[in-house]
Parts: sequence; structure tokens; C-alpha cells
Amino acid sequence: MGRGPSELQAQVLAADLCTACGACLGHCPYLKTLGERVAFIHPCPRDEGRCFEVCPRASLDPESLDRQVLGAPRRHPVLGGHDGLYFARALDADVRARGQYGGVATALTLFALESGLAGAALVTGGTPTRQPHAVVARDRDAVLAAAGTKYSACPTLEPLAGLLREGGEALAVVGRPCQVAAARKVEAHEKNGRLAALIGIFCFWALAPAFYRFLAGRPDLQRAIKMDLPKDGDMAFVVNGRAASVPLDEIRPLIRAACQTCFDPTAEWADVSVGSTEYDPAWNTLVVRTARGRDLVERAGAAGALEVRPYPPERIPILEEAVQRKKLRVLDALESGRPEAAYLRIPAAQRDAVRAHGRA
Ligand SMILES: Cc1cc2nc3c(=O)[nH]c(=O)nc-3n(C[C@H](O)[C@H](O)[C@H](O)COP(=O)(O)OP(=O)(O)OC[C@H]3O[C@@H](n4cnc5c(N)ncnc54)[C@H](O)[C@@H]3O)c2cc1C
Ligand code: SF4
Ligand code: SF4
Repeated sequence: MGRGPSELQAQVLAADLCTACGACLGHCPYLKTLGERVAFIHPCPRDEGRCFEVCPRASLDPESLDRQVLGAPRRHPVLGGHDGLYFARALDADVRARGQYGGVATALTLFALESGLAGAALVTGGTPTRQPHAVVARDRDAVLAAAGTKYSACPTLEPLAGLLREGGEALAVVGRPCQVAAARKVEAHEKNGRLAALIGIFCFWALAPAFYRFLAGRPDLQRAIKMDLPKDGDMAFVVNGRAASVPLDEIRPLIRAACQTCFDPTAEWADVSVGSTEYDPAWNTLVVRTARGRDLVERAGAAGALEVRPYPPERIPILEEAVQRKKLRVLDALESGRPEAAYLRIPAAQRDAVRAHGRA
């Protein structure tokens, strides 16, 4: 017998392990979100349910996702399967101005729409301090308006299952790593529609709804149009053209509980993953993972939407160490029997490979 709403409630929602990816919301009329908190508003009568199957915190099996997405076991224990690692930036001046860093996620989304690869793009609109929301973008203005990082966990995937079920247009989706894993689970079930491009953004943690309560006491930050997390710095805000900052010690208690046991900071099952370079804010780190991702990047490059350079070799260990550190913390939690990490199905060989990586 399968599992469903009771298990989702007990193992994920009541245990405060929901990442607010939004995937389950498209499968059940009784599940709703209020202020980035997902909850049943009415008991669901079913014993089994898609809500549990698509939830990245009900279970996450990296080997099975590798087979589904890459068709092969992973070749890199820390960064996940990939066949290219680059610095990249958008070439369009508007995209660069609106983008968080080099604007690569926005440039690729726009290219997917404007080239006809996708008919619509699921992105996260709003501002970083005013409850971001899912946007189904069908034109340049809507994609540009959704550029920039919102550091809270917006449940962007809420419309995904419905859009795929309707079929018709191919979709581009931009999401955090937990959303990428959930989108792959949804994709495996909704055969009518097609994900033309799954663009993952790096994410080491996101802010909980407590962030909005914190903002209620900080009217000076409420109209921020940009937030950033500079390397080794405090949380930076841009409000009315002025810079403001909040010490990280005040921000850390606002991190979502589920993020503490997240094993995938780089969106390992995306077609491409995009992060900061932790080096030059005008550029992004770009990881090409699938043949579809390679095609998207090459076509966007040929069309003049994107500039791509080799990743500086001396910076690869810096990226790998940051990701490995997070994975090792989560493996420790898993192996010490912490229930928050029990959703992970990681074979011993893969754990050993994470531990051994980088050792001579
Ligand atoms: C919560 C969070 C934490 C992050 N932490 C890190 C980190 O520690 N290290 C790192 O290298 N990168 C991190 N990132 C990614 C980084 O901030 C940039 O989003 C990424 O590098 C893409 O940059 P860009 O210039 O291409 O962005 P843009 O071109 O501006 O595109 C950003 C895209 O992300 C979407 N988006 C914005 N906010 C969210 C959200 N909350 N959920 C889902 N989608 C969203 C937007 O709709 C847009 O499509 C984080 C992102 C998020 C959402
Ligand atoms: S599917 Fe996503 S939004 Fe739903 S309970 Fe699981 S983590 Fe939360
Ligand atoms: S840290 Fe992991 S669980 Fe938390 S929002 Fe980012 S990808 Fe999702």
C-alpha cells in the first residue's frame, strides 16, 4: 500500500521539515499555503496520495533521480552529475541590471521563451521582503520582473502539476534545489506536459516565515528591492537606492528548519544550475548537467544572450569544499539517527565518496 496525506502531515508538515517547494499544492485541494507555511486546511480522506510521492522531504533517493535525469550513476560525488562548469553572464544590459549577479538564470529563461523552446516559464515574482509568489511568465516583461533572489522559501511550484496536466505548452521552470528535485518527481507522473528547461539556482539556506515577523519590526527594510548575501558579509539590503545591512547573527535564527538537513545545495537534477561565483558579482557559476541543458546554453550563447568562460581551475576546490561541508554536516545528522535527515536514501558507497572527495 502506498502512502499519502497522513504520512505527509506526520513526517513532513508536523515535523517542520517542509521546504515550501509548493509541489504538493498542485495535487490536493485541501493543501494550501499561507505566508510560506504549507498546511492541510481540511483532513484529506484518501489513504494514498500524489502529495506524498512528489514531496522532496517525504523521501529523496539520489540514485533514482540520477537514473531518471542523467540515465547513469553520478560522476561527481559533491557537485552531482555534470559535463561542464563555467563562469557565465547575460549579455543583455536589462537582464544584467535586473539579475541577482550575472543574470544567467533570467537570460536562459528568456531565451527558452523567445526561441520557442518553452511556451511559459514558472518563476518567482515579487520583491524579497514582500511575500514572493509564483508567476507563470509568458513574455519578456514578466520574466524580467521576476529577476533577483528572494531569500525566503516561496512555494513557486504550486501551479506546476496543473500546467503539466493541461499539456499544450512546454515549460521552463526556475527553482531552488529542493524544487528541482520535486519538479522531477512531478514530471515523472504528469506525462501530458513537458519540462523544456529546468533551471536550478544554488541554495544553502532559505529564510522561514519568521523573517516576515522580523521585518514587521524593521520598517526601514520593508521596501527593499534587493537582498544579497555577500561572501563573509552581513545580509545586505537595497532600499530606496540606499544600502542597509543586518548582522548575520540576527538572520541565522530565521533560517528554515528544513534547510539544516538539505543535502543538495547546487540543484543536482536540474538541466543547468546557476549560482554566485563568490568572487565577481557580475558573473555566475554555471553548471551544465544534461544534454538538454547543454543545448540550451549553446543555443543561448550562439544567439548572443550569454557569455560563457571556463571556470577558473583554482576556484573549483573552493566551490567543492563549500558544498562538501554542507553534505558532510547532513551525513553526520543522518548517521547519528536524527529524524530530520531520515528522508535521505543515500547508499553507503555514495556517502563514502562524499567523505573521500578531495582527499589525496
Ligand atoms: C533562498 C536562496 C538562497 C541562495 N543561496 C545561495 C548561496 O548560498 N550561494 C549561491 O551561490 N547562490 C545562492 N542562491 C542563488 C543566487 O542568489 C542567485 O539566485 C543565482 O546565482 C542566480 O543568479 P542570477 O544572476 O542568474 O539571477 P537572476 O537572473 O536574477 O534569476 C534569479 C531567478 O531565481 C528565481 N528566484 C528568486 N528567488 C527565488 C526563490 N526564493 N525560490 C525560487 N526561485 C527564486 C527568480 O524568479 C529568477 O528566475 C540562493 C538563492 C535563493 C533563492
Ligand atoms: S511537497 Fe514541498 S511544499 Fe509540500 S509538504 Fe513537501 S516540501 Fe512542503
Ligand atoms: S536549503 Fe535546500 S531545502 Fe532549504 S530552500 Fe534551499 S534547496 Fe530548499
